Amino acid sequence: KIVIRGLNKYFGSLQVLHNINLDIAEGDIVCLIGPSGSGKSTLLRCVNQLERAEDGLIWIDGVPQGWKEKAGRLVELPTVDVVRQRAKIGMVFQRFNLFPHFTALENIIEAPIRVKKIARRDAEARALALLDKVGLRDKTHAYPSQLSGGQQQRVAIARALAMEPDVMLFDEPTSALDPELVAEVLTVMRSLAESGMTMLVVTHELGFAREVANKVVFMDKGSIAEQGEPEAVLFAPRNSRTKDFISSVL
Ligand code: ATP
Ligand code: MG
Repeated sequence: KIVIRGLNKYFGSLQVLHNINLDIAEGDIVCLIGPSGSGKSTLLRCVNQLERAEDGLIWIDGVPQGWKEKAGRLVELPTVDVVRQRAKIGMVFQRFNLFPHFTALENIIEAPIRVKKIARRDAEARALALLDKVGLRDKTHAYPSQLSGGQQQRVAIARALAMEPDVMLFDEPTSALDPELVAEVLTVMRSLAESGMTMLVVTHELGFAREVANKVVFMDKGSIAEQGEPEAVLFAPRNSRTKDFISSVL
């Protein structure tokens, strides 16, 4: 489903991703862990083309992201096509990033109406179903400032799902939340995982990684230092940096 090959990414002279190779099958839940600055967010941002890598390619369902084949060669995609590719990838950030002057419902229907040209009635019906799914039907007309952090993050998840993405990316979705609000967001993510969504999740919630992920990837200094089944990576890490990191988080 997602195939990443030979990805190298630089910021100026600083190389932040080193030869990243990763396979994510349909329905996989991959948790990405690693120290601050190891390149986790950058990797996610490359997957949905908020960043462009200098080398390497990312395919989603066989389609090279950011490139198209022309006369047997790969040429850069025009922006409109990049936007179209990005629309198939949902992203949830650490900060909730809701539009503050829109209600929960308005936040969710905005992109489907504007980008996908879906009729307002249909977009609203679907948004209400999504609000149900994340347990916030009673907050349909609330503004972000009237919602807790956990509720805002659940609206953000519903908003991403409204675009009917093939893949969901999460970048530390619970790390800005008060501890008592973390569980409600993880519960929504767990049910999304059970529904068969393909998910790539940067998280320090190792309990979630152990229970929900089928693969854990440990990144260190821009490289994948170790990857495998959660039990193996979390409880029997082979890499000493993985070991140190896990004991620092626990
Ligand atoms: P954290 O756990 O703190 O979120 P991370 O693993 O997500 O860290 P990244 O945000 O991907 O790490 O950053 C990787 C490296 O790239 C860091 O050294 C960071 O300073 C650098 N970096 C990230 N974004 C930029 C940018 N826009 N310009 C320059 N350097 C950047
Ligand atoms: Mg990050």
